[in-house]
Amino acid sequence: MKPRKNKINRIRSFALSLVFIGVVIMYAGIFFRKYEIVMLLFMVIGMLAVISSAIVYAWIGSLSTRAAQVVCPNCGGLTKMIGRVDMCGHCREPLTMDRSLEGKEFDDAYNRPSKVKEDALEEPK
Ligand SMILES: [Zn+2]
Repeated sequence: MKPRKNKINRIRSFALSLVFIGVVIMYAGIFFRKYEIVMLLFMVIGMLAVISSAIVYAWIGSLSTRAAQVVCPNCGGLTKMIGRVDMCGHCREPLTMDRSLEGKEFDDAYNRPSKVKEDALEEPK
């Protein structure tokens, strides 16, 4: 299955689902009121999920400051992309930094072997 979503949006929805999971786990702990240790365990695990989602959110923040801001050629909206290929956050149009990849079908694999190239593409600050 190929991801058809902007990377930042994808990570953001992952962080959101972590919060949900954490709350559900903590809520489930209430059903084990009789067993204090089990309830405590649920609370701790749920808390960890919520905390890690906060960490993921902080990570998105640092990612999006480094992400390249581009104007989508399809919908004209301003979107942030990570890596050589990414999706528009508004219309999911595939976007690329690499002219040689233009017109090709979107594939996340283009991002993998390009760590060095990706760094070279970044504007000097
Ligand atoms: Zn777009």
